[in-house]
Amino acid sequence: MAGASVKVAVRVRPFNSREIGKESKCIIQMSGNTTTILNPKQPKENKSFNFDFSYWSHTTPEDINYASQVQVYKDIGEEMLLHAFEGYNVCIFAYGQTGAGKSYTMMGRQEQDQQGIIPLLCEDLFTKISDSNNDNNMSYSVEVSSSSETQIPRVGLLFVNPKNKGNLRVREHPLMGPYVEDLSKLAVTSYNDIQDLMDSGNKARTVAATNMNETSSRSHAVFNIIFTQKKYDSETDNTSEKVSKISLVDLAGSERADSTGAKGTRLKEGANINKSLTTLGKVISALAEVKKVESFIPYRDSVLTWLLRENLGGNSRTAMVAALSPADINYDETLSTLRYADRAK
Ligand code: ADP
Repeated sequence: MAGASVKVAVRVRPFNSREIGKESKCIIQMSGNTTTILNPKQPKENKSFNFDFSYWSHTTPEDINYASQVQVYKDIGEEMLLHAFEGYNVCIFAYGQTGAGKSYTMMGRQEQDQQGIIPLLCEDLFTKISDSNNDNNMSYSVEVSSSSETQIPRVGLLFVNPKNKGNLRVREHPLMGPYVEDLSKLAVTSYNDIQDLMDSGNKARTVAATNMNETSSRSHAVFNIIFTQKKYDSETDNTSEKVSKISLVDLAGSERADSTGAKGTRLKEGANINKSLTTLGKVISALAEVKKVESFIPYRDSVLTWLLRENLGGNSRTAMVAALSPADINYDETLSTLRYADRAK
């Protein structure tokens, strides 16, 4: 299906203090759409990949590949939002090792110009709705929900639904067993409503983070927007309805479970997370294959892909941002992120 393939961007973040402390070298180069990774042990060996976008962030904004938060939103988020207005289900997810910049890309920071795809898309959604409100035949409704893949009610939910009062429902996946999903949808009528929800989510997260000595960044957080457009046709006196689901996903860190030193439940949780990331990769590659052949899409093999099955299928558009560290000390993880992103194309 032409144009239906996955949009893939990679984004390298600036050095963090740990990398600076270790005097790490930059092993990522970007030029146009091409991203090159240098092998720090064999400097002559480098690998290049082409993506829809290669985003640089750790030099001056004049750098040709430099991308601000707004630029990333315009390239990736706005396109997906427009697809949602056309009636498609859409999905944007951020992939990469912990600390590589997934949350920065999806949520961003509170300061000016630092907001990520989720707040910018929500704001733009309401701007676009009010722009088209002079068409009296159109009406819109927006509901939001969030879900997460983990068996322990956890910290990373993007917001807490006040209706739930913290009681998340445990549901059953056909193969993987129980998981927690906050399915209840909340109607919102403005960007402010969503901001309030996110603020309450941030507060709940801070409280939970101090109660549990470790927050689990090893779980996925999914923010869903259910967007309904109703169109009244005065000639036929009929109302038609288009419902689009927009899923915005901050994936769990992609580092291998056994490299994190996790034990027991955490190790098992980590293994499930790795399985779902692998399955997500398979689902996306299967979708990117020529759609003429009725190929098998393994949605059921993980909770995440099962939760996202409506958003990754035929009537949907998908984009992915793979977040990269620039530093030589992360070579193996960064190369594996690039390979994952490359397979998604
Ligand atoms: P992850 O969600 O992948 O674990 P974060 O998004 O929390 O990683 O990023 C780690 C740190 O790096 C944060 O302090 C974040 O603000 C910063 N950061 C990440 N990406 C960028 C970027 N492109 N530009 C500036 N700072 C960034």
